[in-house]
Amino acid sequence: MKHLCPVCYYPQLTEPPRSPNGGGSYEICPSCGFQFGVSDDAGGFTYARWRMAWKKGGAKWSSRQPPPAHWNGNNQLGRTPDKKGGTAPASAGETAS
Ligand SMILES: [Zn+2]
Repeated sequence: MKHLCPVCYYPQLTEPPRSPNGGGSYEICPSCGFQFGVSDDAGGFTYARWRMAWKKGGAKWSSRQPPPAHWNGNNQLGRTPDKKGGTAPASAGETAS
């Protein structure tokens, strides 16, 4: 089972970012480089803040492993309804936290 990165929306994390009891997975997202339980708990980054910084830096692939074919960080971000009143048509279901 794959999991969605709550920072960059990379859909292929191998573990849930947070266990039900709240602990981080310590997995590093290969896409944005966020490490759950470290970047947030120790580093003090919120998902939104890391996402903004990552986006600002060009939304580049973070891992030394090669990205999936046709991977594009900006497309990955744009695919998801993370912004209210954005360009996405008629899908205002989710509220960004
Ligand atoms: Zn990520």
